[in-house]
Amino acid sequence: MSSLPNFSEIKDLVSKGMTLEAQEKLMDFRELCLELREENLALKDRVKALEKSVYQQESVTYNGNVYMGRSERDAFCPNCKDRDGLLIHLQLNKEASAGRCNSCGHPYKIAY
Ligand SMILES: [Zn+2]
Repeated sequence: MSSLPNFSEIKDLVSKGMTLEAQEKLMDFRELCLELREENLALKDRVKALEKSVYQQESVTYNGNVYMGRSERDAFCPNCKDRDGLLIHLQLNKEASAGRCNSCGHPYKIAY
């Protein structure tokens, strides 16, 4: 990433009539602003993902077989959560209350 511009240096360049050099410094400043904007957007996305993760982590309970979320259709792999802290949804339907995690292959059984 570029360094912060020195505005007094730009002011001196303009006052000396060195406008081309001043323009180059301003272009460096513009590039820095664009880099900071992109980094800011990436950080906002990361914060949203972490907030969502924290919210989900706080809202799950272990039922002896799997981690359950707010609804009974919201089940998460115990192996992925305990090992990596990840909440991986288990595919549930009425016929199949047992299966394997699509991420790690850990077997699960839902006890309703
Ligand atoms: Zn898993």
